[in-house]
Amino acid sequence: MPGEFDFIQRYLSDRQVNRKDVHLSLGDDCAIVKAPENVRIALSTDTLVAGTHFLASANPAWVAHKALASNLSDLAAMGATPAWVSLALTLPEMDEAWLAPFCDTFFELANYYHLQLIGGDTTRGPLSMTLTVQGFIPESTALMRSGAKVGDWIFVTGELGDSKAGLDVILDSALRTKPFALELEKRHYISTPRIVVGQALLPHASAAVDISDGLIADLRHILNCSGVGASIDVSQLPYSSELLAYCGDETLATQYALTSGEEYELCFTVPAEQRSTVENALAHTGTKVTCIGQIRPQGVFELHNKGQAVDWQINGYDHFKA
Ligand code: ADP
Ligand code: MG
Repeated sequence: MPGEFDFIQRYLSDRQVNRKDVHLSLGDDCAIVKAPENVRIALSTDTLVAGTHFLASANPAWVAHKALASNLSDLAAMGATPAWVSLALTLPEMDEAWLAPFCDTFFELANYYHLQLIGGDTTRGPLSMTLTVQGFIPESTALMRSGAKVGDWIFVTGELGDSKAGLDVILDSALRTKPFALELEKRHYISTPRIVVGQALLPHASAAVDISDGLIADLRHILNCSGVGASIDVSQLPYSSELLAYCGDETLATQYALTSGEEYELCFTVPAEQRSTVENALAHTGTKVTCIGQIRPQGVFELHNKGQAVDWQINGYDHFKA
């Protein structure tokens, strides 16, 4: 596309961390990298499309954050350490007012995680971006979805539900007058990748997943892959005081926490004998973690409130359509 070279020169060159394992970065037909001995590469791709994953009118800095944070979250869910990223960007036009804040935030977040942009592609078309991130995991370990066993404890990081409330506000501007509506809208885009938690969990957790489709939907991935069931105490679900004020009632806030997608928090399982070790290890990361239930035999899936069964109809999470 005309202007692609200028775009690379102007917005992408010389802005990234220079990793020793990157032999050749932007500017040739391929990037060349070298993985250290005794590691495996964890690799993940995600696409964000305007109108499906963000509104074209959204703050470009927030879009950059969401695009990169959602990819980093996949590395976090495997316990991987970020290394390299490539960025395929499709743009309707070379819009300085959009590109400058997009790139500023992209590099701010990438550099924080020592993640180097090593290549990509730039094309003209409807606004979308595809990122491929790569990270390292020690040879003998990985946090997979398939390792949960009956009796393991189920944990989540952070607080859940804000992203869904933010999405409500994005889709219906009449909701902007509700308590904390604008803060929740921002939180929909701005999540914290749980990289350090993932690394700390690597030797201890039996399974992990990141919450992109909603807690219930993503926990089901662990249950299906591990051949187990679960019991969740909904009274334990962590949500923010802002979400409670927005929802105006605890039941609704709890239901938001169960179904909210694009949270990019981690849900993980821990064998009973590892629980105190994990809680100690995670205390050092400064990230809140909460035990919300326990793994049960296959076929069991129960939601209860301190022992009392609840029979909510929980719908899955759908991306919004603008
Ligand atoms: P090619 O024609 O071989 O695909 P390009 O002209 O598309 O090469 O890209 C030139 C160089 O710039 C390549 O090294 C490519 O990786 C890099 N590049 C192009 N677009 C991007 C982008 N959006 N992000 C990062 N690197 C990019
Ligand atoms: Mg190209």
